Amino acid sequence: MNKFDTQIQYLKGVGPKRASIFRKMGIMTLGDLLFHLPRAYEDRTKTIKIQEGVIGEKQSFVLEVTGSPTVSRPRRGLSILQVPVRDSTGEAVMVWFNQDYLKKTFSPGQVYIVYGKLSFNRYQVQIQNPDFKLWSPDHVGSVTPIYPLTDGISNNEMKKIVAQALSEINDDIKSVVPKTYSIKRKLPSKLDSLIGIHFPKNLNHAEISRKALAYEELLLLQIGLLWFKNKGGAELEGIKFKNVRSLEKFIIDLPYKLTAAQIRVIQEIISDMTSNKRMNRLVQGDVGSGKTVVSAAAMVLAVLNGYQATMMAPTEILADQHFETLKDLLKNMPIKIGLLKGSMSLKSRESILNQISNGEVDIVIGTHALIQDSVKFKRLGLAITDEQHRFGVRQRIDLSDKGDLPDMLIMTATPIPRTLALILYGDLDISIIDELPPGRKLIETYAVGSDMEDRIFSFIRKQIIEGRQAYVVCPLIEEQEKQDLLSAEKTYERLTSDIFPDFNIGLIHGRMGQAEKEASMRSFKTGEMDILVSTTVIEVGVNVPNANIMLILNAERFGLAQLHQLRGRIGRGKYKSYCILINDSSNSTARERMRILQSTSDGFKISEKDLELRGPGEFFGTKQHGLPQLKAANLLKDRDVLKTAQEDAIQIISQDPELLSEENALIKEYIQDIFRKLQEEIILN
Ligand code: ADP
Ligand code: MG
Repeated sequence: MNKFDTQIQYLKGVGPKRASIFRKMGIMTLGDLLFHLPRAYEDRTKTIKIQEGVIGEKQSFVLEVTGSPTVSRPRRGLSILQVPVRDSTGEAVMVWFNQDYLKKTFSPGQVYIVYGKLSFNRYQVQIQNPDFKLWSPDHVGSVTPIYPLTDGISNNEMKKIVAQALSEINDDIKSVVPKTYSIKRKLPSKLDSLIGIHFPKNLNHAEISRKALAYEELLLLQIGLLWFKNKGGAELEGIKFKNVRSLEKFIIDLPYKLTAAQIRVIQEIISDMTSNKRMNRLVQGDVGSGKTVVSAAAMVLAVLNGYQATMMAPTEILADQHFETLKDLLKNMPIKIGLLKGSMSLKSRESILNQISNGEVDIVIGTHALIQDSVKFKRLGLAITDEQHRFGVRQRIDLSDKGDLPDMLIMTATPIPRTLALILYGDLDISIIDELPPGRKLIETYAVGSDMEDRIFSFIRKQIIEGRQAYVVCPLIEEQEKQDLLSAEKTYERLTSDIFPDFNIGLIHGRMGQAEKEASMRSFKTGEMDILVSTTVIEVGVNVPNANIMLILNAERFGLAQLHQLRGRIGRGKYKSYCILINDSSNSTARERMRILQSTSDGFKISEKDLELRGPGEFFGTKQHGLPQLKAANLLKDRDVLKTAQEDAIQIISQDPELLSEENALIKEYIQDIFRKLQEEIILN
């Protein structure tokens, strides 16, 4: 067994009680402990002179005791010990409260290394409650790690236990990085890196150690993704589709001209589908960039080759919408389309399942219901997941398992900078639709305070009277779901009874049953309803071209990417559209978000900014993407490390695709472990 996997309670100094405290912090094993990394360091290596000291900061000094310690008792229960000290630049007083026993420690003439916070008090420079140690000629200061802690464990205890763990584990810690690469990249060994990150000689040492560990993490992740890509069958032989010419009719018959970007991406897809390599392609395109028609082209090609195609959407609303869109796009072609979702009568469900298995339907649109066991395709040649960020990796694989190595296409509206896309979707080829269909009116975006409400409501009234529709979105945050649900409901009540009693207003939120939600959404789509009050359940993909107003309440509660997605619900028709963000918070990040949204509508720019503002940890909310958590690596700070790790990973995998060599044995062990966990993870949104 790997020592990293040893349960923590078997470590000296950690009993069952401590172990349960550690468990609270997510630390179960020695490995967890060693990767519980310091969040900061206190640098005691540099000593400075009193004159150079900065008030309020912790610093190290070399100080001589100049007089006898004194104790005063200004009131009951309080004693103050003062020790006068100096260096070549000035004088100071070390001060302790209620620690009289220290008095006998100090005597005039002694020289101490003193570490503490400098303050200016009663015309004196003071160092309160400092750490101290007798100075000796061979003194070297240290850098103290500061750990994330929880109740019941102190930083000092943490330090000791980590040191203990390092000493126990030290003989069998092996670097995973192959020798060739650790030499090439001048990396310290894994043990040295771990020692260096916990107990560095100086801050630079800590950073070098962290980068080495980050490199290992990113290398493993990257190799894992590439390896997974092979296992996923991308490099396997796939179906070799033909008859590309017959796709022309479909494209010519479209009610609009495809954009150059759509044509380019369709060509990339065709070239995958017609090769004997299995397609495993991600299509990224901003909201409204026209991904649906691109996926339709791929499905048509599959069907014209005698195969079935399927597309899985994250919500029933979206599945319905795709179904309608496709029926319309394919109305002049001899192609039969079916719809499968959770809320169907038993009878229609059975009938569609039959048609799927006997091949009567060519294209099946659906929700998660598609990956149930009862669904058997006759001859599935192409599997598409729409809005991939709403699914887990596992579900994508389950869908493709419905066929015999069908080609795979994954659509997402979450644009991600390319280097990072490689991390998230390293197992996929990537196409980008970086152009919106022509004639899209720029959405005017305004961030205002709620004092503008009256004007906004009268503006909305005017638009609705002209025939338009409006979304009103209220925040929903899990922890306070109740309160926020109320706010959607309250807003609905307020709008219906006070503000717009003469309009038809609907409500939709996550606590409603599926059927209820569908009904609301449908009557908004058909135009029966003028205003739809909702939570973020309308976030993805829904298309109501007549709706041209998006009013977002408490906009500060939403993330940048989310606001961008919400805004993408409008500006889909021929009408000028308006996104109004109501924000009363003076929080600077919130204001920055509003500013960004007002200044750009480019999803890629917005996601870069989002990454900067939120930091990668949150951005990649690993849960959402089903990736192993990065402990040492910081995707924002470590773009250089990421790049070298990516290069090296590609080289390693291309030289040894099955990771059979001795040098790569440990890598293989690690990634099998990581990806076994990943495969087990099922993420439902
Ligand atoms: P998304 O990329 O967000 O999934 P959709 O596929 O839903 O976008 O397309 C958004 C809208 O744009 C739809 O109404 C669709 O009919 C329209 N559309 C797509 N491509 C074009 C095009 N080349 N020219 C004009 N309209 C287009
Ligand atoms: Mg879409």
